[in-house]
Amino acid sequence: MRPPPYRALLNPHLADLEEYAPIEPFEVLSTRLGIPVEGIVKLDANENPYGPLPAAVEALARYPHFHIYPDPRQSVLREALSTFIGVPAAHILPGQGADELLDYLCRLFLAPGDEVIDTPPTFGMYSFDAKLAGAGVVEVARGDDFSVNVEAIAAAVEAHRPKLLFLTSPNNPSGNWLDDHALDRLLSLPVVVVLDEAYVEFADHPSRASRVLDRDNLVVLRTFSKAAGIAGLRLGYGVFPRWLMHELWKFKQPYNVNAAASVAGIASLRHADRIEAVIEKLKAERSRLYALLEPFEGIETVPGSQANFILCRILGRDARDLKLALEHRGILVRHYDKPGLSNCIRVSVGRPEHTGALLDALRMEAG
Ligand SMILES: *Cc1c(COP(=O)(O)O)cnc(C)c1O
Repeated sequence: MRPPPYRALLNPHLADLEEYAPIEPFEVLSTRLGIPVEGIVKLDANENPYGPLPAAVEALARYPHFHIYPDPRQSVLREALSTFIGVPAAHILPGQGADELLDYLCRLFLAPGDEVIDTPPTFGMYSFDAKLAGAGVVEVARGDDFSVNVEAIAAAVEAHRPKLLFLTSPNNPSGNWLDDHALDRLLSLPVVVVLDEAYVEFADHPSRASRVLDRDNLVVLRTFSKAAGIAGLRLGYGVFPRWLMHELWKFKQPYNVNAAASVAGIASLRHADRIEAVIEKLKAERSRLYALLEPFEGIETVPGSQANFILCRILGRDARDLKLALEHRGILVRHYDKPGLSNCIRVSVGRPEHTGALLDALRMEAG
């Protein structure tokens, strides 16, 4: 008897998906380039070059209960987060990175035939997760200055009746802030607004997390991956309206946040002043990097980044070619070539010596 065509058993809306293209892991790259891991200057994924706080590493080393399942309700972590952001713990749900919460939101709301609004150029996971849930993605492009087109979004909401609207502030990869006027108008639309604040710690403006308390259609997502320096441990959190928290408790995987992430997160929050000091260093380095990139011919920076990276348009040279040339010198940056981001690279803000290595390499490349 012929075996059944097993692939035909797949959920039909998943069969045609494309794989998410992640960046090459730096250990793999290190082997490929023959450059030791310590010699690589990693400015391609907006990680914190200062790493976790020593207090977080010590807490991990001391923790005696790794053989025990973690608390499914994450009570201690949620209380610590509550104190940190000033929102009751009943509104806070930690996840295995903000990415997991994006996936939860998409699977909670979306089925084949539903739609979401995305505002490219922006973070790629929104459309990835929406498509994974079978939904259609309506794109409302940002303007030349990367601000969202509020009236075009309002028109798209009217025309498509989407369930979710994804916004990012500061936006990745442009670093610009979403102003209150635009946010207020977008919150008045009949759609659930998912506001991703992965980089808010680096902004000159406060988080909108507390606004969730008086909006039933606002979700704010934050993370320990960027400012808190524990991207590898996978810890993020969402601030949700109460009605949505009830649904999430039914939906979430019981042990989504592992014990190590939780221990490191709690220790980091206890020493939030030290994270603040690292953030100040990175913000100062962002200013220095802007000033140093300024005189380069052929590099046009997108001004006013409120995040820990700077987007650059490359003129008179193929940006991919520049990215690869830098890579051969052990410096990793992110390359883009898509609508709104033609011939661009994004450079994460590193330590002063990373800036130095980048500038030396750019000078050599300029001949
Ligand atoms: C890095 C990033 C995230 C991912 O956060 P995790 O907590 O590591 O999953 C979310 N949103 C944006 C815009 C990011 O750049």
